Amino acid sequence: MKTALTPLLVLLIVGLSACQPKPTEVVPPAYALVIHGGAGLIKAENMTREMDSSYRASLSEALSAGEAILKNGGTSLDAITTAITILEDNPLFNAGRGAVFNAQGFIEHDASIMSGADKDAGAVGAVRNIKNPILAARKVMEESPHVFLVREGAEQFAALKGLQIVDPSWFMTHKQREKYEQTKATQLEREFPLGEKHGTVGAVALDKFGNLAAGTSTGGMHFKHSGRLGDSPVIGAGTYADNESCAVSATGHGEYFIRFGVAHDLSSRMKYAGMSLEAAAEQVVMHDLVKLDAGGGIIAIDKAGNICMKFNTAGMFRASVKAGEEAYVGLYGVPEIEVEE
Ligand code: ASP
Repeated sequence: MKTALTPLLVLLIVGLSACQPKPTEVVPPAYALVIHGGAGLIKAENMTREMDSSYRASLSEALSAGEAILKNGGTSLDAITTAITILEDNPLFNAGRGAVFNAQGFIEHDASIMSGADKDAGAVGAVRNIKNPILAARKVMEESPHVFLVREGAEQFAALKGLQIVDPSWFMTHKQREKYEQTKATQLEREFPLGEKHGTVGAVALDKFGNLAAGTSTGGMHFKHSGRLGDSPVIGAGTYADNESCAVSATGHGEYFIRFGVAHDLSSRMKYAGMSLEAAAEQVVMHDLVKLDAGGGIIAIDKAGNICMKFNTAGMFRASVKAGEEAYVGLYGVPEIEVEE
């Protein structure tokens, strides 16, 4: 009896399951792009309307330029390079022009870039005269056998590759010089409280070829020791991209981000523990880093085009866009509060 019924049952089950709607396949968007301009004590009550709109306009400008590349079928690497270059040239952010001074009164830039398709990467550290450090990181990735070049070696390499070299004074802004002079006079920032320090820039993107890319650029921590490298140029700490998981750019107290290997940790949690991007970021940014009082945040995109912008500070300058969707720009905690007059 039992044996006679089995084929019938099988037929019934097959028939029933054929009637079930197929699980909807997750179709990644044609492209996605997220950028950040640093995390920190960014609060509506500390901003004027003018500052608020300058930051929003600057983020929108960089986002639109990056999006235009992706929309026209360009690569994620080109999109993030363009967006970061625009933010480096903008004195509002702590990268390129407008970067913070170190304790010795110099400006030293760090930048890195990574391609998720082949895990190729490039970085420069403590460079003083390369106009756009992200372009130097990209040259290291694409035109050298190395991953990481620092100081004079990186500067010579960039010049040899035809990148624009500028006098270090080009990066100096009145605002940052004043901040430096004040700190020098009071020596109040020796312990690097996170405070007002924010403005590192970064971008992550997914292109129509399914390739992820990430990049980060910064002047580092205000009043840092000369020669100090933060997480931003360290592959796996401030920047990471892997087509099998996600692309990440971080911002925050770099010493902790290096020790936690933040960007790689996010990718590993997705790859080896099967976590979603959102869950992985929640764990790393809102629990692990918070336990050590390490302020900062991340932006990330996974291979399915899911976007994540997570920070444990009051705010993070950020913007994102996906194919066919409205762009988003945010500065403060969620939900955002309107700036008062
Ligand atoms: N992560 C950067 C550094 O430590 C600073 C920042 O993102 O604000 O150099």
